[in-house]
Amino acid sequence: MKGIKVVGPKQVEVVDWPDEAVGAHEVRVRIRAAALCRSDLSIYYMEPLLGNLPPGAVVPGHEPAGIIEEIGSAVTGFAVGDRVAVQCFDGCGHCRYCRDGWPNMCPQSKCLGFDRHGGDAETLVTPASTCLKIPDEMSFLTASIATDAIGNLYNTLKTLGVNGNQRVAIIGVGPMGLAGVLCAKAMGAEVIVIDMVQSRLNSAQALGADHAFLSTEAEKAISDLTRGRGVEAVVDCTGKTPAIRLAFNIVGKFGRIGQLGVGGEAHIGLMDQIVGKQVTYIGSWYFQMGEWDEICDLIVDRIGNEKAEKLISHVYPLETPAVQEGWRLFDEHKTDKVIFVP
Ligand SMILES: [Zn+2]
Ligand SMILES: [Zn+2]
Repeated sequence: MKGIKVVGPKQVEVVDWPDEAVGAHEVRVRIRAAALCRSDLSIYYMEPLLGNLPPGAVVPGHEPAGIIEEIGSAVTGFAVGDRVAVQCFDGCGHCRYCRDGWPNMCPQSKCLGFDRHGGDAETLVTPASTCLKIPDEMSFLTASIATDAIGNLYNTLKTLGVNGNQRVAIIGVGPMGLAGVLCAKAMGAEVIVIDMVQSRLNSAQALGADHAFLSTEAEKAISDLTRGRGVEAVVDCTGKTPAIRLAFNIVGKFGRIGQLGVGGEAHIGLMDQIVGKQVTYIGSWYFQMGEWDEICDLIVDRIGNEKAEKLISHVYPLETPAVQEGWRLFDEHKTDKVIFVP
Protein backbone atom coordinates (compact mmCIF):
# COMPACT_ATOMS: atom_id res chain seq x y z
CA MET A 1 0.00 0.00 0.00
CA LYS A 2 1.05 3.57 -0.59
CA GLY A 3 1.60 5.64 2.53
CA ILE A 4 3.49 8.66 3.82
CA LYS A 5 6.92 8.15 5.36
CA VAL A 6 8.97 10.72 7.24
CA VAL A 7 12.44 10.27 5.72
CA GLY A 8 14.29 13.11 7.45
CA PRO A 9 13.67 16.33 9.38
CA LYS A 10 10.78 18.07 7.61
CA GLN A 11 11.00 15.57 4.75
CA VAL A 12 8.09 13.37 3.78
CA GLU A 13 7.51 11.07 0.82
CA VAL A 14 4.81 8.70 -0.34
CA VAL A 15 6.39 5.24 -0.44
CA ASP A 16 5.28 1.62 -0.75
CA TRP A 17 4.75 -0.02 2.65
CA PRO A 18 4.17 -3.77 2.97
CA ASP A 19 0.49 -4.70 3.28
CA GLU A 20 -0.46 -5.91 6.77
CA ALA A 21 -2.56 -9.00 7.43
CA VAL A 22 -5.89 -8.48 9.21
CA GLY A 23 -5.92 -10.14 12.66
CA ALA A 24 -8.96 -11.86 14.16
CA HIS A 25 -10.14 -8.73 16.01
CA GLU A 26 -9.10 -6.24 13.34
CA VAL A 27 -10.50 -4.67 10.20
CA ARG A 28 -8.93 -3.15 7.11
CA VAL A 29 -10.18 0.36 6.38
CA ARG A 30 -9.87 1.86 2.88
CA ILE A 31 -8.89 5.42 3.80
CA ARG A 32 -10.97 8.19 2.23
CA ALA A 33 -9.63 11.16 4.23
CA ALA A 34 -6.85 11.65 6.80
CA ALA A 35 -6.20 14.92 8.62
CA LEU A 36 -2.95 16.49 9.79
CA CYS A 37 -2.70 17.48 13.46
CA ARG A 38 -0.26 19.72 15.34
CA SER A 39 1.11 16.68 17.15
CA ASP A 40 2.08 15.17 13.77
CA LEU A 41 4.66 17.93 13.52
CA SER A 42 6.64 16.24 16.31
CA ILE A 43 7.11 13.34 13.89
CA TYR A 44 7.93 15.80 11.08
CA TYR A 45 10.67 17.27 13.30
CA MET A 46 11.84 13.67 14.01
CA GLU A 47 11.00 13.99 17.74
CA PRO A 48 7.74 12.03 18.17
CA LEU A 49 5.62 13.27 21.08
CA LEU A 50 4.34 9.78 21.93
CA GLY A 51 5.69 6.23 21.88
CA ASN A 52 9.13 4.71 21.61
CA LEU A 53 9.50 4.09 17.88
CA PRO A 54 12.10 5.98 15.87
CA PRO A 55 10.61 8.63 13.53
CA GLY A 56 9.69 7.18 10.15
CA ALA A 57 9.18 3.65 11.54
CA VAL A 58 5.44 3.73 10.87
CA VAL A 59 3.01 5.59 8.62
CA PRO A 60 1.99 8.83 10.41
CA GLY A 61 -1.58 10.08 10.76
CA HIS A 62 -4.03 9.65 13.62
CA GLU A 63 -7.19 11.29 12.24
CA PRO A 64 -8.44 8.96 9.48
CA ALA A 65 -11.83 7.98 8.12
CA GLY A 66 -12.83 5.50 5.45
CA ILE A 67 -14.73 2.36 4.49
CA ILE A 68 -14.27 -1.10 6.03
CA GLU A 69 -13.18 -3.47 3.29
CA GLU A 70 -12.04 -6.56 5.19
CA ILE A 71 -13.06 -8.01 8.54
CA GLY A 72 -11.20 -10.29 10.98
CA SER A 73 -12.69 -13.68 11.85
CA ALA A 74 -13.71 -12.68 15.41
CA VAL A 75 -15.16 -9.25 14.59
CA THR A 76 -18.87 -8.70 15.16
CA GLY A 77 -20.96 -5.57 14.74
CA PHE A 78 -19.22 -4.34 11.60
CA ALA A 79 -19.75 -5.19 7.96
CA VAL A 80 -17.76 -4.64 4.79
CA GLY A 81 -18.84 -1.26 3.44
CA ASP A 82 -19.38 0.39 6.83
CA ARG A 83 -18.29 4.05 6.87
CA VAL A 84 -16.13 4.78 9.92
CA ALA A 85 -13.89 7.29 11.61
CA VAL A 86 -11.01 5.74 13.53
CA GLN A 87 -10.34 6.64 17.16
CA CYS A 88 -6.57 6.89 17.33
CA PHE A 89 -5.97 5.25 20.72
CA ASP A 90 -6.15 1.52 21.30
CA GLY A 91 -5.93 0.33 24.90
CA CYS A 92 -5.84 -3.04 26.66
CA GLY A 93 -9.64 -3.14 26.65
CA HIS A 94 -10.08 -4.20 30.27
CA CYS A 95 -8.44 -1.67 32.62
CA ARG A 96 -10.67 0.89 34.35
CA TYR A 97 -9.82 3.60 31.79
CA CYS A 98 -10.54 1.41 28.78
CA ARG A 99 -13.78 0.20 30.35
CA ASP A 100 -14.71 3.83 30.93
CA GLY A 101 -14.07 4.78 27.28
CA TRP A 102 -10.71 6.48 27.75
CA PRO A 103 -8.19 4.22 25.95
CA ASN A 104 -5.75 7.17 25.75
CA MET A 105 -5.40 6.91 29.55
CA CYS A 106 -4.66 3.15 29.46
CA PRO A 107 -1.14 2.26 30.62
CA GLN A 108 -0.82 0.11 27.49
CA SER A 109 -2.31 2.71 25.16
CA LYS A 110 -1.03 2.70 21.59
CA CYS A 111 -1.61 5.59 19.22
CA LEU A 112 -2.06 5.46 15.47
CA GLY A 113 0.84 7.02 13.63
CA PHE A 114 3.12 6.88 16.67
CA ASP A 115 3.07 3.30 18.03
CA ARG A 116 1.57 1.61 14.97
CA HIS A 117 0.82 2.42 11.34
CA GLY A 118 -1.39 5.48 10.97
CA GLY A 119 -3.92 6.72 8.49
CA ASP A 120 -1.87 8.71 5.96
CA ALA A 121 -2.03 5.73 3.61
CA GLU A 122 -4.32 3.91 1.20
CA THR A 123 -5.44 1.44 3.86
CA LEU A 124 -5.20 0.96 7.61
CA VAL A 125 -5.41 -2.25 9.64
CA THR A 126 -6.85 -1.38 13.05
CA PRO A 127 -8.69 -3.11 15.93
CA ALA A 128 -12.43 -3.12 15.25
CA SER A 129 -12.85 -1.56 18.71
CA THR A 130 -11.27 1.65 17.39
CA CYS A 131 -13.81 2.08 14.58
CA LEU A 132 -16.64 4.56 15.07
CA LYS A 133 -19.54 4.37 12.63
CA ILE A 134 -20.47 7.68 11.03
CA PRO A 135 -23.92 8.86 9.96
CA ASP A 136 -24.81 8.98 6.25
CA GLU A 137 -24.99 12.78 6.42
CA MET A 138 -21.36 13.04 7.54
CA SER A 139 -18.73 13.24 4.80
CA PHE A 140 -15.38 11.49 5.11
CA LEU A 141 -13.70 14.91 5.22
CA THR A 142 -15.75 15.84 8.27
CA ALA A 143 -15.32 12.39 9.81
CA SER A 144 -11.54 12.78 9.68
CA ILE A 145 -11.71 15.94 11.79
CA ALA A 146 -14.56 14.72 14.00
CA THR A 147 -12.36 12.77 16.40
CA ASP A 148 -9.25 14.66 17.45
CA ALA A 149 -10.43 18.18 16.58
CA ILE A 150 -14.20 18.50 16.99
CA GLY A 151 -14.57 15.56 19.38
CA ASN A 152 -11.87 16.78 21.71
CA LEU A 153 -13.28 20.31 21.84
CA TYR A 154 -16.78 18.96 22.38
CA ASN A 155 -15.57 17.01 25.40
CA THR A 156 -13.72 20.03 26.78
CA LEU A 157 -16.69 22.37 26.46
CA LYS A 158 -19.09 19.79 27.84
CA THR A 159 -16.81 19.18 30.84
CA LEU A 160 -16.64 22.94 31.40
CA GLY A 161 -20.45 23.01 31.43
CA VAL A 162 -20.67 25.47 28.54
CA ASN A 163 -24.26 26.29 27.58
CA GLY A 164 -26.50 29.05 26.28
CA ASN A 165 -26.33 31.12 29.46
CA GLN A 166 -22.62 31.58 29.28
CA ARG A 167 -19.73 33.25 27.57
CA VAL A 168 -16.75 31.16 26.62
CA ALA A 169 -13.41 32.59 25.55
CA ILE A 170 -11.23 30.50 23.27
CA ILE A 171 -7.57 31.46 23.24
CA GLY A 172 -5.74 30.49 20.05
CA VAL A 173 -7.90 29.92 16.99
CA GLY A 174 -5.84 27.55 14.91
CA PRO A 175 -7.72 24.42 13.78
CA MET A 176 -8.45 23.25 17.36
CA GLY A 177 -9.70 26.66 18.45
CA LEU A 178 -11.86 26.95 15.33
CA ALA A 179 -13.39 23.55 16.11
CA GLY A 180 -14.10 24.98 19.56
CA VAL A 181 -15.93 27.93 17.99
CA LEU A 182 -18.20 25.59 16.01
CA CYS A 183 -18.94 23.42 19.06
CA ALA A 184 -19.46 26.29 21.51
CA LYS A 185 -21.83 28.09 19.12
CA ALA A 186 -23.75 24.85 18.52
CA MET A 187 -24.01 24.46 22.32
CA GLY A 188 -25.56 27.92 22.47
CA ALA A 189 -22.79 29.92 24.13
CA GLU A 190 -21.65 33.45 23.35
CA VAL A 191 -18.15 32.96 21.96
CA ILE A 192 -15.15 35.23 22.34
CA VAL A 193 -11.99 34.40 20.41
CA ILE A 194 -8.49 35.65 21.17
CA ASP A 195 -5.42 35.29 18.99
CA MET A 196 -2.23 37.15 18.09
CA VAL A 197 -3.05 36.95 14.35
CA GLN A 198 -5.87 39.04 12.87
CA SER A 199 -6.51 36.67 9.95
CA ARG A 200 -7.23 33.82 12.39
CA LEU A 201 -9.68 36.04 14.26
CA ASN A 202 -11.38 36.76 10.94
CA SER A 203 -11.71 33.02 10.23
CA ALA A 204 -13.19 32.48 13.68
CA GLN A 205 -15.75 35.25 13.14
CA ALA A 206 -16.66 33.78 9.76
CA LEU A 207 -17.46 30.53 11.62
CA GLY A 208 -19.70 32.35 14.07
CA ALA A 209 -17.55 33.76 16.90
CA ASP A 210 -19.41 36.72 18.45
CA HIS A 211 -16.40 38.76 19.56
CA ALA A 212 -12.77 38.70 18.44
CA PHE A 213 -9.86 40.35 20.22
CA LEU A 214 -6.14 40.48 19.63
CA SER A 215 -4.23 39.06 22.61
CA THR A 216 -2.85 42.48 23.52
CA GLU A 217 -6.29 44.06 23.91
CA ALA A 218 -8.20 41.03 25.23
CA GLU A 219 -8.01 41.61 28.96
CA LYS A 220 -9.42 45.13 28.85
CA ALA A 221 -11.98 44.32 26.15
CA ILE A 222 -13.32 41.30 28.05
CA SER A 223 -13.51 43.24 31.28
CA ASP A 224 -15.59 45.89 29.45
CA LEU A 225 -17.75 43.28 27.73
CA THR A 226 -18.54 41.44 30.96
CA ARG A 227 -18.91 44.58 33.11
CA GLY A 228 -15.83 43.58 35.04
CA ARG A 229 -17.07 40.09 35.93
CA GLY A 230 -14.99 37.99 33.53
CA VAL A 231 -16.15 35.02 31.48
CA GLU A 232 -17.67 31.79 32.78
CA ALA A 233 -15.36 29.52 30.78
CA VAL A 234 -12.03 29.73 28.97
CA VAL A 235 -10.33 27.20 26.71
CA ASP A 236 -6.62 27.63 26.05
CA CYS A 237 -5.61 25.92 22.82
CA THR A 238 -2.11 27.41 22.72
CA GLY A 239 -0.28 26.08 25.78
CA LYS A 240 1.80 29.25 25.72
CA THR A 241 2.75 30.92 29.00
CA PRO A 242 1.19 34.38 28.29
CA ALA A 243 -2.03 32.68 27.15
CA ILE A 244 -2.34 30.62 30.33
CA ARG A 245 -1.80 33.77 32.36
CA LEU A 246 -4.44 35.56 30.29
CA ALA A 247 -6.89 32.70 30.84
CA PHE A 248 -6.65 33.14 34.61
CA ASN A 249 -7.02 36.92 34.27
CA ILE A 250 -10.17 36.86 32.15
CA VAL A 251 -12.01 34.03 33.90
CA GLY A 252 -14.61 35.19 36.39
CA LYS A 253 -15.45 34.03 39.91
CA PHE A 254 -16.43 30.33 39.94
CA GLY A 255 -15.17 30.19 36.35
CA ARG A 256 -13.67 27.17 34.66
CA ILE A 257 -10.61 26.84 32.45
CA GLY A 258 -9.91 23.98 30.05
CA GLN A 259 -6.29 23.43 29.06
CA LEU A 260 -5.78 21.80 25.65
CA GLY A 261 -2.53 23.30 24.42
CA VAL A 262 0.68 21.96 25.92
CA GLY A 263 4.23 23.17 26.09
CA GLY A 264 4.22 26.28 28.28
CA GLU A 265 4.07 26.85 31.99
CA ALA A 266 2.77 29.68 34.13
CA HIS A 267 3.05 30.94 37.67
CA ILE A 268 -0.47 31.45 38.95
CA GLY A 269 -1.27 33.63 41.95
CA LEU A 270 -3.05 31.14 44.19
CA MET A 271 -5.08 33.68 46.12
CA ASP A 272 -6.07 36.11 43.35
CA GLN A 273 -6.35 33.69 40.49
CA ILE A 274 -7.51 30.31 41.81
CA VAL A 275 -8.58 30.22 45.46
CA GLY A 276 -10.02 33.73 45.71
CA LYS A 277 -12.03 33.25 42.52
CA GLN A 278 -12.79 29.57 43.16
CA VAL A 279 -11.61 28.66 39.67
CA THR A 280 -11.63 25.12 38.33
CA TYR A 281 -8.70 24.28 36.00
CA ILE A 282 -8.93 21.07 34.01
CA GLY A 283 -6.65 19.30 31.58
CA SER A 284 -8.38 18.02 28.47
CA TRP A 285 -7.21 15.26 26.16
CA TYR A 286 -9.44 13.61 23.57
CA PHE A 287 -13.05 12.52 24.23
CA GLN A 288 -14.80 9.64 25.92
CA MET A 289 -15.73 6.85 23.49
CA GLY A 290 -19.34 6.86 24.68
CA GLU A 291 -19.68 10.48 23.57
CA TRP A 292 -19.28 9.57 19.89
CA ASP A 293 -23.01 9.58 19.11
CA GLU A 294 -23.40 12.99 20.78
CA ILE A 295 -20.49 14.31 18.72
CA CYS A 296 -22.04 13.01 15.49
CA ASP A 297 -25.41 14.54 16.40
CA LEU A 298 -23.80 17.87 17.23
CA ILE A 299 -21.97 17.91 13.90
CA VAL A 300 -24.80 16.72 11.68
CA ASP A 301 -27.81 18.31 13.39
CA ARG A 302 -26.49 21.53 14.89
CA ILE A 303 -23.22 22.53 13.20
CA GLY A 304 -24.03 21.02 9.79
CA ASN A 305 -21.66 18.86 7.77
CA GLU A 306 -20.94 21.60 5.25
CA LYS A 307 -20.01 24.10 7.94
CA ALA A 308 -17.82 21.57 9.73
CA GLU A 309 -15.90 21.10 6.48
CA LYS A 310 -14.99 24.79 6.64
CA LEU A 311 -12.34 23.84 9.22
CA ILE A 312 -10.50 22.30 6.29
CA SER A 313 -8.52 24.71 4.13
CA HIS A 314 -6.38 22.31 2.06
CA VAL A 315 -7.07 18.87 0.54
CA TYR A 316 -4.24 17.00 -1.19
CA PRO A 317 -3.99 13.68 -3.04
CA LEU A 318 -1.73 11.06 -1.45
CA GLU A 319 1.15 11.73 -3.84
CA THR A 320 4.69 12.86 -3.24
CA PRO A 321 4.89 16.48 -4.32
CA ALA A 322 1.39 17.20 -3.00
CA VAL A 323 1.85 15.82 0.51
CA GLN A 324 5.14 17.68 0.86
CA GLU A 325 3.36 20.97 0.23
CA GLY A 326 0.63 20.02 2.69
CA TRP A 327 3.05 19.31 5.55
CA ARG A 328 5.13 22.40 4.77
CA LEU A 329 2.22 24.85 4.70
CA PHE A 330 0.73 23.26 7.85
CA ASP A 331 4.09 23.59 9.60
CA GLU A 332 4.28 27.25 8.54
CA HIS A 333 0.81 27.92 10.06
CA LYS A 334 -0.52 28.83 6.62
CA THR A 335 -3.47 26.45 6.73
CA ASP A 336 -6.40 25.36 8.85
CA LYS A 337 -6.96 21.59 8.72
CA VAL A 338 -5.02 19.79 5.95
CA ILE A 339 -6.45 16.54 4.57
CA PHE A 340 -4.88 13.81 2.46
CA VAL A 341 -7.21 11.84 0.20
CA PRO A 342 -5.74 8.63 -1.26
ZN1 LIG B 1 -3.90 15.01 17.14
ZN1 LIG C 1 -6.62 -0.34 29.25
